[in-house]
Amino acid sequence: MPGGDATRVVVVGAGVTGLSCAVRLAEAGHRVDVLARDLPLETTSVVAAALWYPYKALPQDRVTGWAAAAYAEFAQLASQEGTGVRMMGGTEVFRDETADPWWAGAVPDLAHTTAPLGYQDAWAFTAPVIDMPVYLHWLTHRLTQLGVTLTRMSLAALPVEAGSGAGVVVNCAGLGARLLAADHDVRPVRGQVVLVAGVELDRWWLDAAGPTYVVPRTHEIVVGGTDQPGDWSRTPSTETATEILHRATRLVPELAEGRVVGTRVGLRPVRSRVRLEADGSVVHCYGQGGAGVTLSWGCADEVTTLVTQITER
Ligand SMILES: Cc1cc2nc3c(=O)[nH]c(=O)nc-3n(C[C@H](O)[C@H](O)[C@H](O)COP(=O)(O)OP(=O)(O)OC[C@H]3O[C@@H](n4cnc5c(N)ncnc54)[C@H](O)[C@@H]3O)c2cc1C
Repeated sequence: MPGGDATRVVVVGAGVTGLSCAVRLAEAGHRVDVLARDLPLETTSVVAAALWYPYKALPQDRVTGWAAAAYAEFAQLASQEGTGVRMMGGTEVFRDETADPWWAGAVPDLAHTTAPLGYQDAWAFTAPVIDMPVYLHWLTHRLTQLGVTLTRMSLAALPVEAGSGAGVVVNCAGLGARLLAADHDVRPVRGQVVLVAGVELDRWWLDAAGPTYVVPRTHEIVVGGTDQPGDWSRTPSTETATEILHRATRLVPELAEGRVVGTRVGLRPVRSRVRLEADGSVVHCYGQGGAGVTLSWGCADEVTTLVTQITER
């Protein structure tokens, strides 16, 4: 058994990154406890649209690998009841002719398609679409099944000192890494979305200009969005919500029939490159930017490999 009975792995963070890592680590036989200031439904992760799409995350080669691994896992989860994961076709539109994306290799069916009126180019592909409140609930339930604890705790530092009981610490604190890893390379890019009910859509839509996106969840549609670097405000703006809906309704006119049932704000943990590396008995895994869900299982697999290497030293 990796690490033996005595090795305890403490995962800091209960967003999609921390929970996915905790699941994979427990599945690999590690004894895992999760500590987090914010519980899953209070994190940035619950705000995510969440469309599988490598957005504001680098470096390209590693991101493509993590995204491909997560794509395969989500495709599996989509066939299971209660996960909140669906595979859904959708279209990304462009105002100019656009070459294939650098991450095209991670998607099985990306192809250029006829652009809607007002656009010059478009791609269509099947992507996982994840209803985050449902999915985070499912992940939390999976952790309980695996015997992983989840405790609310606001940490002033990573629990690495002797006596903390942690053999290995996995740092999935997102923006919290500014404090916990003294890393000012990770910074907020604010995103606001509007939740719309009363409209049925069977495709997602994306226009990176804006950005404007329309992503169906089970009972509502997530309509975005904004990209506001350096803005720490978690308070939704009414003017921004109106402007988002205006943009999105031009892209998907059916939205005009819907009613607004909520507005959410999240702070994407953007970094010059995702930090996924071991440093002594700490494995850092944060800075997934606008793609934390998209990269989650790929990052979790790599974290598990690193933790197992540390515990077998
Ligand atoms: C509007 C919006 C739309 C998005 N859409 C998508 C999308 O379509 N697809 C996609 O893949 N991604 C999307 N994202 C990005 C995605 O939400 C993030 O990349 C992802 O949530 C990051 O997850 P995380 O677990 O790393 O961090 P978080 O969800 O922020 O979780 C961090 C955890 O660390 C804990 N923590 C921090 N500091 C401390 C401390 N001192 N002590 C204890 N615990 C601490 C927090 O409490 C929390 O539990 C979107 C984001 C936004 C805002």
